[in-house]
Amino acid sequence: MTTAIRERAQLVYDFADGDRSQTDLLGGKGANLAEMTRLGLPVPPGFTITTEACRHYLDRGEEPQSLRVQVTMALRRLEDGLGRRLGDIQDPLLVSVRSGAKVSMPGMMETVLNVGLNDYSVKGLAEAAKDERFAWDSYRRLIQMFGRTVLDIPSERFEDRLDAVKTREGATTDVELSPAALQGLVEDFKDIVSDATGRDFPQDPREQLDMAMRAVFDSWNTDRARIYRRRERIPHDLGTAVNICAMVFGNMGEDSGTGVCFTRDPATGKQGVYGDYLVNAQGEDVVAGIRNTLSLEDFARLDPASHAELTRIMRRLETHYRDLCDIEFTVERGKLWMLQTRVGKRTAGAAFRIATQLVDEQVITRDEALTRVTGHQLAQLMFPQFDADAPRTLLTKAMAASPGAAVGEVVFDSATAVARAAEGRRVLLVRRETNPDDLEGMIAATGVLTSRGGKTSHAAVVARGMGRTCVCGAEEIDVDAEAKVLRVNGTTIAEGELLSIDGSTGEVFAGELPVVPSPVVTYLERGLDAALEGVDEEAADLVRAVDRLLRHADRTRRLAVRANADNAEDATRARSLGAQGIGLCRTEHMFLGDRRVLIERLILAEDPPARDAALAELLPLQRADFVELLTAMDGLPTTIRLLDPPLHEFLPDRTELAVKVAVAKATGDGVSADDERLLAAVERLHEANPMLGRRGVRLGLLVPGLYGMQVRAITEAAAERALAGGDPRVEIMVPLVGSVMELHLIRDEIDGIVADVQAAAGVDLDIPIGTMIELPRAALTARRIAESAEFFSFGTNDLTQTTWGFSRDDVEAAIFAAYLEKGVFTVSPFESLDRDGVGALIRTAVEKGRETRPGIKLGVCGEHGGDPDSVHFFHYAGVDYVSCSPFRVPVARLEAGRAALVDDTVGGEL
Ligand code: PEP
Ligand code: MG
Repeated sequence: MTTAIRERAQLVYDFADGDRSQTDLLGGKGANLAEMTRLGLPVPPGFTITTEACRHYLDRGEEPQSLRVQVTMALRRLEDGLGRRLGDIQDPLLVSVRSGAKVSMPGMMETVLNVGLNDYSVKGLAEAAKDERFAWDSYRRLIQMFGRTVLDIPSERFEDRLDAVKTREGATTDVELSPAALQGLVEDFKDIVSDATGRDFPQDPREQLDMAMRAVFDSWNTDRARIYRRRERIPHDLGTAVNICAMVFGNMGEDSGTGVCFTRDPATGKQGVYGDYLVNAQGEDVVAGIRNTLSLEDFARLDPASHAELTRIMRRLETHYRDLCDIEFTVERGKLWMLQTRVGKRTAGAAFRIATQLVDEQVITRDEALTRVTGHQLAQLMFPQFDADAPRTLLTKAMAASPGAAVGEVVFDSATAVARAAEGRRVLLVRRETNPDDLEGMIAATGVLTSRGGKTSHAAVVARGMGRTCVCGAEEIDVDAEAKVLRVNGTTIAEGELLSIDGSTGEVFAGELPVVPSPVVTYLERGLDAALEGVDEEAADLVRAVDRLLRHADRTRRLAVRANADNAEDATRARSLGAQGIGLCRTEHMFLGDRRVLIERLILAEDPPARDAALAELLPLQRADFVELLTAMDGLPTTIRLLDPPLHEFLPDRTELAVKVAVAKATGDGVSADDERLLAAVERLHEANPMLGRRGVRLGLLVPGLYGMQVRAITEAAAERALAGGDPRVEIMVPLVGSVMELHLIRDEIDGIVADVQAAAGVDLDIPIGTMIELPRAALTARRIAESAEFFSFGTNDLTQTTWGFSRDDVEAAIFAAYLEKGVFTVSPFESLDRDGVGALIRTAVEKGRETRPGIKLGVCGEHGGDPDSVHFFHYAGVDYVSCSPFRVPVARLEAGRAALVDDTVGGEL
């Protein structure tokens, strides 16, 4: 049955039959060749073998019978149209065979030129072209390319031989080789082929064609291609098309040549065409950089007619595609031929500049311009970068956890980081992993490097929150904090030596690499005027482009964007970056440093009066924190989350303390009573899996007075602000709720305190009380939970952890490399939302929450709130806002605007 369908399927399309919409079937190159043919541009005739034929071949290990017949028919049409036959002994038709997947993919077999040449047709070609040198050069190129890409013979074997002949002949470039030398080279190359494969170079032109076609199909599954697809998240089951095209020759003498050009500069986005031309050469010579290329201006002097035609075509293509095009062309004895075009790849900066240029030229609309740039590109523009031209020594590559380029003296502990930074030195904090104790060191450092932990590890989350560069999970690095050295792949680096880390690529370099700052950040933080001061015209143009597209995204988006910020400083920065509120203030960070002893006292309190005394000391400190935060966020919603982490995080390390007590006992020095009490508390609170233990609302229900103190501090702060004439819009959020009963119980306490404080202060405050949805049970019972919650905020970090059963801090280093390799997922679910699993729970909760409370406010405050793909999902899932690290706010704004314009599948099926 399936075979019958395949028998009838059209597996081969002449260029004249397809168009640009058919990239699924014809691949990018094939579809664009067809489009140029349709436009009447000078494209050599040819045909495309479809991706469906490739998929069939890869499934069954051989091509369908019908493909062979269809190739024969297409070849005959080609031959009849040109009046020449493939590999004929007189004036032979030759063809190129080129791969072409839907998206261009380095790592696959690219091209074999001159298919159809053999020991006989080479003579016919020499005669027809009246050029022996050209014919033998073309034949040696065929054997070389065929040998390398179809027969897998190492390219050096051919190159070494070519070099040897050049030396013998006293030639510096291949163009200087005589026909006789090239003919000798052909014999040598044929010997290399028979020696390497045990059979002669195939003389039958059709066999050459079929073998090249199969090699293109097979190249879809090479390791390099698979690795590339994994990295770029391209599905493995697309397959590639094969393009067979009549050869035109750039190597027919001084009036011939080959080149590549762009309709605008793809590196900077500068207006005006840009390209390279090589006289008397075939396509691969330009890319290989064998000889120096000429500019398009030189080409215009050399061949004004071809240049003028190329210029007309470039304009035509840009008008047609309404975007930057990149083009490959060949001139054969003064006649211009187009070999390829596509909408060209470009850098992040070029993307923004070109999109706004095209709006100004009235070629595209502002909406279209917004779809032409991405949040990833904006993020790249925001971070300082290492100077791309500087020499470098790569030590290792690990997880790119928080972007940026950081250079500093290596230090191995937080205290040293703080001390050296205070002396005005740049330091890089290197730890096996970080914990809340390292916070000060992280603040003092220019960047953070860890050898353990993934992208949601403490180091990564905190570093992103602060906009600090971070590379994590660098397992090749052995961090010896005792000896104050790190060892990596045979290199030892001691404290004080310089290291450079790139948080956008995960690379770690020895020594200091020069850094170039980003004017885009100046714009985002301080506005357009500040950013335009003293920068060159290119940078100014880029900043203006970012400003225009970001403002358009703000006009277009439905999602609001808030920030995750824990203090007034971060909140102020978030506001300047465009945050429309705080979606998550994590209060645990307020209990570190000096205040840790107060929490310790609370935990150790043996009776209610002692506990109350500890809480009473904490209350004014918390209130002051909230007054500052609400002042910074005046007039904007500010969601404060009650304490979430397990209490043992505020106590000393269990092992260290146990050793201290044991040593004191053994030496008879006398154990301090405090230490003994502390150890007992640490033992009592110890949990095998603290992430799933006494956390969140459970803590609130088990430690009397703790949440009450926080709620009182929040409400008193709001009252103080209101009485001072401010506009506090605080919201109180309860974490890790799994059952509505937990929320009912804690709300009884919260509601009472809020009412008391309002009455005492004589103000009327509107303080919504809501919950995080970060457990599957909460999502599944959202209808009940909404009875007691005025808003939901999806804590997608924990929701991912608990949906998958993945321990947040452990799995990325331990499991994810293997899972990505095996294709279980193409991207970490902690980085980009798992639409089908976690997304389905979110959609359920959205639906059920609104059934109970139609106007319920819905937000997202996990790390996914700043991830471009996830933002699109949240737009379609119908939440009201996303909240993310301050530095990701502009990215989320841009992507929320794009989500409102781009129609991508929502996923997360119910
Ligand atoms: C979450 O779980 O997504 C969240 C925002 O809370 P935290 O990361 O603090 O657990
Ligand atoms: Mg959480």
